[in-house]
Amino acid sequence: MRQKIVAGNWKMNKTLEEGNILASEIAGMVADEVKGDAKVIFCVPFPYLLPIKNQLGNNNRIAIGAQNCSEHESGAYTGEVSAPMLKSIGIPYVILGHSERRQYFGEDGKLLAKKVDVALKHGLIPIYCCGEPLEVRESNGHEALVKKQVEESLFHLSGDVIKTIVIAYEPVWAIGTGKTASAQQAQDMHAVIRKHIAAKYGQSVADAVAILYGGSVNAANAKELFACPDVDGGLVGGASLKSREFTEVIKGA
Ligand code: 13P
Repeated sequence: MRQKIVAGNWKMNKTLEEGNILASEIAGMVADEVKGDAKVIFCVPFPYLLPIKNQLGNNNRIAIGAQNCSEHESGAYTGEVSAPMLKSIGIPYVILGHSERRQYFGEDGKLLAKKVDVALKHGLIPIYCCGEPLEVRESNGHEALVKKQVEESLFHLSGDVIKTIVIAYEPVWAIGTGKTASAQQAQDMHAVIRKHIAAKYGQSVADAVAILYGGSVNAANAKELFACPDVDGGLVGGASLKSREFTEVIKGA
């Protein structure tokens, strides 16, 4: 049985004070109310990584993640944050290839393969995002595109390594739109991704990879989505910014 994971992607939201309140409220509710053993990850803006990590202390239910890192290890790259920097402050996870990075910052599969490699080299676990825009879904190209996104940034890895990473399927048309993929649409794509991994690496590797769904996950739809056999939890944007709602999402896992 794969462990369920519920990751909150705060994106570029909250002041530090607001973030501290949010994190401590969720941590309290998780401790008091959440029976399951889903792993919770807060993917917070860079300046909050260390303060929020320190605030959570030795919390074995909640981990911290970054939302991006450089493809370079160090050097003259003003404004960038490297994987070794994240490692040096004890951050275990990093989101890579979010559709907003692909769309607004021009990140492509080749660049993301480099980011995946540098993250892994420094002991970070990538949460690698894939997903199709609306026009691709409407022209029925979604399966081919997502398979390609997974291939071009992950299929150079060995089977032993790929099974340690987390994949997040986030259809672009469902992100921040309130238009969630149906549980069937999510399950269908997750099964496609898992089959694609199985075809290259074998079933036991494919069965080990955690595949999260992202795109308008909320308290009302989380349970149904997370109950799908190939959906191992969620990557949650808007609903992760509200303590009660995010706790209910976690309970759905
Ligand atoms: P929303 O949950 O706000 O749709 O965002 C999803 C997302 O992009 C998480 O990475």
